[in-house]
Amino acid sequence: MLRACVNRGGAASCIRVAQPLRLDQPLRLSTAARAALECWDPRPGEAYSLMDDARNCWRGRLTRLGPQEAEIVPFEQLNAAPESHLELVVFQALPEKERFELVLQKLTEIGVTRIVPYTCRRSTTLAERDAGQKKSHRWPEVLLRAAKQCRRGIIPELAPVLDWDAVLEEVAEADLRLMLYEKATFWTLQEAICRQNPGRVALLVGPEGGFTEEEAAAAQAHGLLPVSLGARILRTETAAILAAGIVQFVLGDLG
Ligand code: SAH
Repeated sequence: MLRACVNRGGAASCIRVAQPLRLDQPLRLSTAARAALECWDPRPGEAYSLMDDARNCWRGRLTRLGPQEAEIVPFEQLNAAPESHLELVVFQALPEKERFELVLQKLTEIGVTRIVPYTCRRSTTLAERDAGQKKSHRWPEVLLRAAKQCRRGIIPELAPVLDWDAVLEEVAEADLRLMLYEKATFWTLQEAICRQNPGRVALLVGPEGGFTEEEAAAAQAHGLLPVSLGARILRTETAAILAAGIVQFVLGDLG
């Protein structure tokens, strides 16, 4: 299914090269790879992560950039791919001020696939959020910079701000659906994910004011499992970053 995306993230940003790469041998990018490079707002002299046909990953420096063509010189082969095999989608209720920028940056480093900001009863609205200094139109730039800095091979997808009903609809596409809920009594996050082998995980993080009882009930009716992160109440951004880290540790590539 095609999911809405407001940045140039996702598989289209993966720079794939069909020919075998060799250290220090300049490589002219194919049309498709040149198009993928464009997602990264490329600048000559900068380094990018490349993937070859055998799924080996390389770092390469951009040495020439024209409107249609580009030349990259591979300077390092990576031991491990910078992309997790796990598809992890984090739904984050819109927090105040610059906290969402922090979430975008840290979730990118942790290796999530897609980030979905949303509004619900107790979240900030986009209008309130944009009345402050840090505007939402800068979010794609925050993601891009974080993806470059941590050497990812794919820029995470950023969804438009969804409303609650759209969240419940998109969550349904995941194999494992988790809701971080401080009132969850049955499962801890760790218990809910151990011995699972999902392809796609949805992680729903609530607003600073918490989910309402109705929202919690609706989420469970849509197959979301309420899970706890322990007895302390965490700030929403802490909960998102910590939970994404735990999921990548147990099911993804951090372990
Ligand atoms: N206002 C609520 C807490 C909200 S914390 C209260 O005072 O009770 C913000 C969000 O972070 C929550 O909606 C939840 O998704 C997540 N969260 C924070 N601490 C958590 C915990 N201990 N277990 C699970 N989720 C937690």
